[in-house]
Amino acid sequence: MRDFALELEERKQAGLYRTRRHVAGPQRPSLIADGKLLLSFCSNDYLGLANNPANIEALRNALPETGLGGAASHLICGHHDAHHQLELRLAEFTGRSSALFFSTGYMANMGVISALAGRGDTIFSDRLNHASIIDGCILSRARVRRYAHGDVAALEAMLAETSGHKLVVTDGVFSMDGDIAPLAELARVCRAHDALLVVDDAHGIGVLGPEGRGSVAELGLSEDEVPVLIGTLGKAVGTSGAFVAGPSMLMDYLVQKARTYIYTTAMPPALAMATISSLDVIERDQGRRDHVLGLVSRFRCEASAMGYELMPSRTPIQPIMIGDNHDALALSQALEERGLLVSAIRPPTVPVGEARLRVTFSAAHSQEDLDCLLRALSQCRDLVQKTDVAI
Ligand SMILES: *Cc1c(COP(=O)(O)O)cnc(C)c1O
Repeated sequence: MRDFALELEERKQAGLYRTRRHVAGPQRPSLIADGKLLLSFCSNDYLGLANNPANIEALRNALPETGLGGAASHLICGHHDAHHQLELRLAEFTGRSSALFFSTGYMANMGVISALAGRGDTIFSDRLNHASIIDGCILSRARVRRYAHGDVAALEAMLAETSGHKLVVTDGVFSMDGDIAPLAELARVCRAHDALLVVDDAHGIGVLGPEGRGSVAELGLSEDEVPVLIGTLGKAVGTSGAFVAGPSMLMDYLVQKARTYIYTTAMPPALAMATISSLDVIERDQGRRDHVLGLVSRFRCEASAMGYELMPSRTPIQPIMIGDNHDALALSQALEERGLLVSAIRPPTVPVGEARLRVTFSAAHSQEDLDCLLRALSQCRDLVQKTDVAI
């Protein structure tokens, strides 16, 4: 039998062993983790909606009407009117003809990619795409060609030499880097080479664009230009689940073909009602976006002045590049000793030699929270190698 215990030991030696923290109480910046009160800068609750009173009330009000469990898959008898209402709302929110509600973003990517491409087809995937996209590509059995991160010219050269059905898939906002894909250029080359473009805007929905409609809306890209738009609901939206939005015919096709939609139990319908409530808040409350993006610019200015290596991101994902796994863990540990929770991200989540601290901001953070983070970062500065500071 394979020596699993040895493999675990090797992981520990390599600084790659992962552990979980036990959180008590609701998700918010002041978090009780493993019994300790910490100020968290690592959740994806970018708008501070995971614990929003109006959304909690919407869930509570829906429960007597809908009951709790989903009870069956959508194609048997689980497709509740609440799911239908959420899909109409998501289509309206994203400016698409139609939308389909999935249980998680992981399942949406697996289901959509494997339904829209198959044996004999070719998928072109950005090198830094999310793990669920990579797994969706594998499940599809299509030929997969990875292109250098954001490199539209390299992609176009690959598209030009490929015949048959082509699918291009990219994160909208990259989950571990925080930068945004060149969506307008991708849409242009996809059109020129008759490829279907799929954008996973897990980290853009709620945060970017007019009324938080995401990175695709920020550029005003239509359903013709980005035919398949995926978004998740467990991050900025603060609830759970995911969606795909696009032309009605494609959504119909997915209902027939997406295995992760077909062979799974529908989400609790009351959760759909809470999500509708959250979308209302997101549209109305520009102040949340302004506040979190204000924290981001102040952080970038002050952390880079300390000599930390930041990445080209204007989103609430603000990684501090470290490089070595053990150094990244040491900095994360030193911050924790100062009451801060910032997670170290290591391979295989990021490329080897690119371990980093993934700092994320939320509209629920105050300027004083940011003061605490900056103070601790300045105290821990000597733990990581100095990079040249521009003067
Ligand atoms: C988080 C994430 C997902 C997965 O979404 P879940 O709803 O958490 O399963 C998919 N794509 C990207 C880019 C993500 O960051």
